[in-house]
Amino acid sequence: MKILKLLWQNLKKGPSTDPFPFGDTFTPKGLRGRIRFDASQCSACRMCEHVCAGGAIRFEQTDQGTTFTVWHNSCTFCGLCEHYCMPGAIRLTEDWHLAHHQSDKYHMVEHDLIPHLACEGCGETITQATSNLLGKAYCGSNDDIRTLARLCSDCRRARSAKQLTKGEML
Ligand code: SF4
Ligand code: SF4
Repeated sequence: MKILKLLWQNLKKGPSTDPFPFGDTFTPKGLRGRIRFDASQCSACRMCEHVCAGGAIRFEQTDQGTTFTVWHNSCTFCGLCEHYCMPGAIRLTEDWHLAHHQSDKYHMVEHDLIPHLACEGCGETITQATSNLLGKAYCGSNDDIRTLARLCSDCRRARSAKQLTKGEML
């Protein structure tokens, strides 16, 4: 009799489990999900690759620039890449919709290019120093800092030395 009562109570109460995938579900705030990468803010320092617990991130040099690849199905959502990325170019979103067929595993990637730039002083190939990075490194930005960011290390040194000998402030 007891079991019938329990069954009746449960039937009246309705399902207590989440209806997903046949209905809506919720996402806990701060969930660490799919990686989002912003090439415009990446300075190709490769720190994220270095700390990546899952070995999910890879950089490669090409003639056009540095390519970034993250393999979503190797990512362990540890969040170290986001934590160590100073300019905030890599972030974990709350998107957890990453289920896929085994045959699609090679498509579960995000790929982008961090383009090479030419030094404005000598034309040497350089990697961008992004606005977020400059802002954090110098606690702000001004014309001098932005000019230095468009130069290679040799031209930066030469320009700084010239300014110092002229007694100008950087
Ligand atoms: S995403 Fe961030 S940590 Fe990774 S290479 Fe770019 S700037 Fe560096
Ligand atoms: S969250 Fe962790 S495992 Fe995933 S890409 Fe970032 S560092 Fe690698």
